[in-house]
Amino acid sequence: MADIIKLLPDHVANQIAAGEVVQRPASVVKELLENAIDAGATSIKLIVKDAGKTLIQIIDDGKGMSETDARMSFERHATSKITSAADLFNLNTKGFRGEALASIAAVAHVDLKTRIHQNEVGTHIEIEGSSIITQEPCAVPPGTSLAVKNLFFNIPARRNFLKSNNVELRHIIDEFQRVALAHPQIVFAMFHNEGEVFQLPAGNLKQRIVGIFGGKTNEKLVPVSEETDIVSIQGFVVKPEFSKKTRGEQFFFVNDRFIKNPYLNHAVSAAFEGLLPDRARASYFLYLTVDPSTIDINIHPTKTEIKFDDEHSLYAILRSTIKHSLGQFNIAPVLDFDRDANLDTPYAYKDKHAHIPKVEVDRNFNPFANVSPPKKGASLPTYTKQPVDGWEQMYEGLKTPPSGDASNVTYESEEVTGDLFQKDAGYAFAKAESSTYQLNNKYIISTIKSGMVIIDQNRAHQRILYEELLRNITVKESVSQQLLFPLILNYNSSELGLLIQLKEGLENTGFVFGKVANETLEITGIPTSLPESEVPIVIEQLLSDLENEVPDTGFSQTDTLAKSMAKSMAVKAGETLDAESREHLVNSLFACKEPSVSPHNRTTFITMNAEELDRKFK
Ligand code: ADP
Ligand code: MG
Repeated sequence: MADIIKLLPDHVANQIAAGEVVQRPASVVKELLENAIDAGATSIKLIVKDAGKTLIQIIDDGKGMSETDARMSFERHATSKITSAADLFNLNTKGFRGEALASIAAVAHVDLKTRIHQNEVGTHIEIEGSSIITQEPCAVPPGTSLAVKNLFFNIPARRNFLKSNNVELRHIIDEFQRVALAHPQIVFAMFHNEGEVFQLPAGNLKQRIVGIFGGKTNEKLVPVSEETDIVSIQGFVVKPEFSKKTRGEQFFFVNDRFIKNPYLNHAVSAAFEGLLPDRARASYFLYLTVDPSTIDINIHPTKTEIKFDDEHSLYAILRSTIKHSLGQFNIAPVLDFDRDANLDTPYAYKDKHAHIPKVEVDRNFNPFANVSPPKKGASLPTYTKQPVDGWEQMYEGLKTPPSGDASNVTYESEEVTGDLFQKDAGYAFAKAESSTYQLNNKYIISTIKSGMVIIDQNRAHQRILYEELLRNITVKESVSQQLLFPLILNYNSSELGLLIQLKEGLENTGFVFGKVANETLEITGIPTSLPESEVPIVIEQLLSDLENEVPDTGFSQTDTLAKSMAKSMAVKAGETLDAESREHLVNSLFACKEPSVSPHNRTTFITMNAEELDRKFK
């Protein structure tokens, strides 16, 4: 009964996004802290020596492991947290891959002591580079203590690659803070080289923020709170006058998991618009709670990224919620209701009688003629992006096929497009304008000769933009749009360093840079397909994609850049597309070299032929 860890079946393991879990000491800290949280700990202690290069130890009072589980926990794909692929869509734990301990044990000396509460004795296991050195019963308090020593002892290249102790410790503290902020009700402590770094008692969110960032933080916080059908938002934003020049304290948590999301970050900045001192960045601690089935966490083990079903609506809700909070706490300028309204009436109108405006009714208007489905959460403001200010531009220059004649399009991967397009027929899409539909503002449905195709709009658009960007970067003939007023953005020196490394690639996409100095970047030209207001999102996304891996070779640089820009520029799930944009998306997708997968290898479309439909109607 006490044994709970099982090996994931291959077909489940294969659906899990794989990747290297252990990149630096901070990755170990993150994984071990999350395991302690998943084990239900109420108190967690982190002990670090030499910025984690010598020792990382986590002691928790969670449920502990049985003897068999303790041994089992170091197997790859061994987890007690999920058993089937369906569980991936309803995760209530931080972990689910069953990879962390196996990966850590492969590159370090690990010492585990653990005891489940109902047992008298616990288990002690020592592992060095995946081989078990000791396994014996031992007397320990209930819970788990896991010590990771000499990280990368068997991979000297990795060990040499580690940054200075200051930098590595900074990364560890970042991870610690993120987990501690997500769980204010858990007691946390952190020690480095015997010195106490944090001592955080259990408390509410505000107490936790103050515990981490100091007593003065208290007066800087403005509460944020909103409940809607699709998201609950709680937390605090920092008053505009306390904002910082470079990226300050920006924390998003989704279902208690820290995430980075340049698009949502932009929503917060948009709410602060006009309130921040010159080029400062908003600081915030925002906790979003959504139905776990509406997000995909399984993107990459070390990336703090998740995919939302309806990112577009989240943007709008977030922006208006924060605007409201800022207004309510008298931070934003408000209308002055004490004024004598008469004084505001233009003189010439003073004695005129108001007349009732005539209402024109279009009797031919049929609200059901438009096939777009109604939005979720009817009380929300309308935030449909007008097709004119974004969509059209995004597609400028993309109007394929190049010659204007569809029959010239060459399909490089015939096995994919082969069944969609019958060769003799050329373009097999019915040419009628009404042949595409949008489902849940997320999928585009279109008819094809053999049946129908269902396209994920976000992934498809990423694919289209990715190929377009790759072309531009390699061919170097993108068109740039000169800005009337240069954009000046603030970044810290390491961020600027990253951007400078990618300067040439960025220029090939259409960016033109001016001065780079004093933590500021001047941008004088931008890609024609990119609306000016989205430039900060694209750059934030790029910085966050580069954080863990700066590609060295020219090819992977180009690839990273194109993937990242495609991701930030792509139409989001939740965005309503008009008929023309839908058509365009479908046509452009199938003009791609590899239409079937997104740049991150996720399926972009599925098809259903008439026979399959027939079968369903049997
Ligand atoms: P995952 O967290 O994805 O399941 P891990 O490799 O991190 O994979 O851990 C493997 C298993 O070991 C977990 O599923 C859990 O059952 C057990 N485990 C790990 N750490 C702890 C801990 N601190 N307390 C109790 N059980 C733990
Ligand atoms: Mg884990």
